[in-house]
Amino acid sequence: MRRTRNVKIVATLGPASSSYEMIRALHEAGTDVFRLNMSHGTHDDIAERHKVIRAVENDVGRPIGILADLQGPKLRVGPFANGSEDLEEGQAFRLDLEGKPGDATRVQLPHREIFEALEVGATLLVNDGKIRLRVEEHGPDYANCTVTVSGTISDRKGVNVPDVVLPLAALSEKDKIDLEFACELGVDWLALSFVQRAEDVFEARDLAKGRAALMSKIEKPAAVKAFDAILDASDGIMVARGDLGVECPISAVPPMQKRMVRKCRNAAKPVIVATQMLESMIESPIPTRAEVSDVAAAIYEGTDAVMLSAESAVGQYPTEAVATMNNVAIEVENDPTYRDVIDASRGGPKQSVADGIVSAAREIAETADIKVICCYSQSGSTASLVARERPHVPIIAMTSKLGTARRMALTWGLHCLKTDEVDRFKSAVLNSARAAVSEGFADPSDFLVVTAGVPFGKSGTTNILRVAPCDERLIIPADPE
Ligand code: ATP
Ligand code: MG
Ligand code: MG
Repeated sequence: MRRTRNVKIVATLGPASSSYEMIRALHEAGTDVFRLNMSHGTHDDIAERHKVIRAVENDVGRPIGILADLQGPKLRVGPFANGSEDLEEGQAFRLDLEGKPGDATRVQLPHREIFEALEVGATLLVNDGKIRLRVEEHGPDYANCTVTVSGTISDRKGVNVPDVVLPLAALSEKDKIDLEFACELGVDWLALSFVQRAEDVFEARDLAKGRAALMSKIEKPAAVKAFDAILDASDGIMVARGDLGVECPISAVPPMQKRMVRKCRNAAKPVIVATQMLESMIESPIPTRAEVSDVAAAIYEGTDAVMLSAESAVGQYPTEAVATMNNVAIEVENDPTYRDVIDASRGGPKQSVADGIVSAAREIAETADIKVICCYSQSGSTASLVARERPHVPIIAMTSKLGTARRMALTWGLHCLKTDEVDRFKSAVLNSARAAVSEGFADPSDFLVVTAGVPFGKSGTTNILRVAPCDERLIIPADPE
């Protein structure tokens, strides 16, 4: 099965999307990468969803990426006896350390250090800023607040305290346990929440030991300031607009998003635009115009992926939300304006042989009548460089490493294929030609461009480019080696 769009779709799994049938339906509707949020659900739940995704992957025969999102030092309230409560403007509401379930008057906030650091008059923002509480009085184990913006509060909703600097480490004990668990389970990406400095990424990298790629979630003003260093230290970026729009002025988020997306493309590292993309679809089968425009704008900017959170995790219309993103992507990508914008923003440093090869591959493919670019990539770095070119023709990323194929499922335009190891360029060309035809990208009478590195099996050696026929019978006599 091939996608008819380049931008990728990430969908968060949750209670609304845990069955085999639903996960398969989400994949078929367009999901390329599934996100497992370590803030919600037990390790058993996560392991079960992981197993189901891999079963779907096996049955559909296409590599699927799995992203485990570590909670990070995020403050969350405890559970409620009734699951949720409506808070009215002007009412009192108390946060404390008591373990019993919450009700309409109080709930647990299991972070002792916060109560000490709070100040009278400080604002607490609950659920991505939807509910606001003002601190009236606080002690070492409680805070009495007034609700200043009403809303429904429910189990484990996040709490931000933008006015107060909180003494929190980048990776909590829970995160370290979750990281080890997720790596052993075999996830492809780890998302790090509330990264503030490149050192936070280094710390996670020491623990992950190459078992998963690292994505930094940008959701703190400090991370926006240190963005270049964080990008350099990371394998990918998530523009986590929920907390970002709470921690920074909400009106500053769109320009930040634009800048970050552009920098990620220049660095050839995948970027996800996340949070509230189709929020109204939690309860409605039809999105708002503004939401559709938001998804479209991110795609026009050239993002690698767009993401669903609650829409697919707890919403009533998970597959409709994925299908909406898919349809918006197809419309945008077929618009000549999209091409103009994407072509005009191509740039970035071009210094290595690999940079030259991928750029030539794109130019040749677009000049001659070439149907597809096939690139052999072990680590995925050459495939990312091809994707950075944002060519007009499709890209097949061939790799003998399943982990690489799954990881690259997140990258713009890459149709990833796990192939057998090859040791000669001729076999690479042959495999590419077969894949181009069997995967539906070309007919035997067409031509393709193949890039690879010889000798094979050595990362970072892309040094060869060939225009070849897709008809394998023509390759054999033409290519003695
Ligand atoms: P983050 O800060 O990591 O984005 P979040 O709480 O905003 O955390 P999302 O995954 O972005 O979580 O959104 C999913 C929504 O679905 C949340 O409102 C969450 O409360 C709800 N949910 C309930 N159970 C789950 C689950 N098992 N996995 C994911 N989300 C869940
Ligand atoms: Mg967040
Ligand atoms: Mg969220």
